[in-house]
Amino acid sequence: MSNLICSNLEIKNNELYFGGRSTKEIASKYKTPLYVMDEVTIRANCRKYVNSLNKYFGSSAKALFASKACSFKRMYEIISSENMGADVVSVGELYTALKANVNPQELYFHSNSKTDEDIEYAISQNIGYFVIDNIEELDAINFFAGKKGIKQKALIRITPGIDTHTYEAVNTGKVDSKFGFPIETGAGEFITGEALKRENVELKGFHCHVGSQLFDSDVFVRSADTMLEFVAEMKNKFGFVTEILDLGGGYGVRYVESDPYIDIEDNIRQVAEFYKKKCAELELQEPSVRMEPGRSIVADAGITLYTANTVKIIDGYKNYVAVDGGMGDNPRFALYGSEYTVIAASKAEEKCDFNCSLVGRFCESGDILQENVNLPSSIKRGDLIAVLTTGAYNYSMASNYNRIPKLPVVMLNGNEDYIAVKRETLDDIIRNDV
Ligand SMILES: *Cc1c(COP(=O)(O)O)cnc(C)c1O
Repeated sequence: MSNLICSNLEIKNNELYFGGRSTKEIASKYKTPLYVMDEVTIRANCRKYVNSLNKYFGSSAKALFASKACSFKRMYEIISSENMGADVVSVGELYTALKANVNPQELYFHSNSKTDEDIEYAISQNIGYFVIDNIEELDAINFFAGKKGIKQKALIRITPGIDTHTYEAVNTGKVDSKFGFPIETGAGEFITGEALKRENVELKGFHCHVGSQLFDSDVFVRSADTMLEFVAEMKNKFGFVTEILDLGGGYGVRYVESDPYIDIEDNIRQVAEFYKKKCAELELQEPSVRMEPGRSIVADAGITLYTANTVKIIDGYKNYVAVDGGMGDNPRFALYGSEYTVIAASKAEEKCDFNCSLVGRFCESGDILQENVNLPSSIKRGDLIAVLTTGAYNYSMASNYNRIPKLPVVMLNGNEDYIAVKRETLDDIIRNDV
């Protein structure tokens, strides 16, 4: 028997069910490898943030979906219908959001390295906010906004100097990060003064994002603490009134049984309680809060279905089960050694006594989906295998390495199922070849 880590999963008749639906049926209807996402779970996750932010921070607070976690047109339609704005980190994400009819004023453009073309395009599309990451960007925004004859709204990304003790690749709040302006070195104050001098930039406030896969409110309380101190300093120094304070994203999800459950509402309540107290202490008018969840909106709303192709037993060494996908659709183990729960979806009630590495079809030894997986010893070619909690940073990180077409995304919604992203064809693979 396998471990079920999310409430949208069940085992019935020796089979894995996701979003109330038979994974065998979905796999036979749409073929594998396949991303399956559950719209009901996505919407429930959105509502947790939107409702808790409004309840505890007031009606001007907003949840923004960090769309790099999972970006395609249907996702933007879902989150905007749930009253969320979105972060975009490239013109590709911006373009996708616009094509999904998202109000551009609800979009926040991040990235530590925006080109002039990126900046001019975003301004021409009437984007709501830039999140300024460096002085070159500030000058370019000022220039292109001036060219268009507007004042462009912006936030400044601050690195509050908080160590989240998560793994290095996602620890973005430390002073030596490639992102943002540290407070400690005086860079945060300097850029604030500069932004206030730029005629075509309307500084609205500050942003920070300190890490990912975080499990308690402590990190958000510490960043709010540091950021509000900074807000107060900028008020004293420049008379600047911060209207918006964006506390970033980063709440964690359950990839494996040992990951804790997290109560988002209670976490937001704790952060808000601190926030109000701190603003009162500093005699600040409370800046309107933004939060930017990515992973925690979509991760548990997705699974990936694969078919086993080969079982390789190297006696006295190790065993491999190779599936019809791999690092092209989920590079996260290869990149970070990320943990996932794996289930033999078509043999879900069988005893799992066959220890193996779950590997992909890509020509690369590092093409591993997960090490140390326990599957039923009867596992064989044709069996259905599910990797759980793949809704975040899988589709959005997919590649065409080995010229393997990208997987489709099938969305479930109660008894309905529909294609949100089509499977790539062989012709898609060569469409730009001349
Ligand atoms: C990636 C990112 C997020 C989202 O982080 P999650 O861990 O997916 O919630 C939010 N804000 C910024 C600026 C980011 O870069």
